[in-house]
Amino acid sequence: MKVQCKNCLPKEGIEISYFSQKEKQIISTLTVQSAIQAVKYLVDNYSISHADAKYIVTHINKTYGHCNRCVFDKLDKEYITCPKCGALNFNWEVEK
Ligand SMILES: [Zn+2]
Ligand SMILES: [Zn+2]
Repeated sequence: MKVQCKNCLPKEGIEISYFSQKEKQIISTLTVQSAIQAVKYLVDNYSISHADAKYIVTHINKTYGHCNRCVFDKLDKEYITCPKCGALNFNWEVEK
């Protein structure tokens, strides 16, 4: 699946693989604790480049429904571009 963010490079976006609910939970928890650890986890466990791993971690939102970049809090899809600021959000519904 391809994801794209108008604010970030590369402009054409990146290709991401499917993450199971369990994987989303792990990655999301790591992201909240330490973005560096989350990037390392992605690089170590999936064949993802460091740049792509960073791109993914940057866009995982900390709270479900809340945009990473602005105050908008009604995101209702998983991989969604915020209608207010245009930022890409990995709006994963996981327990935090
Ligand atoms: Zn972005
Ligand atoms: Zn936003």
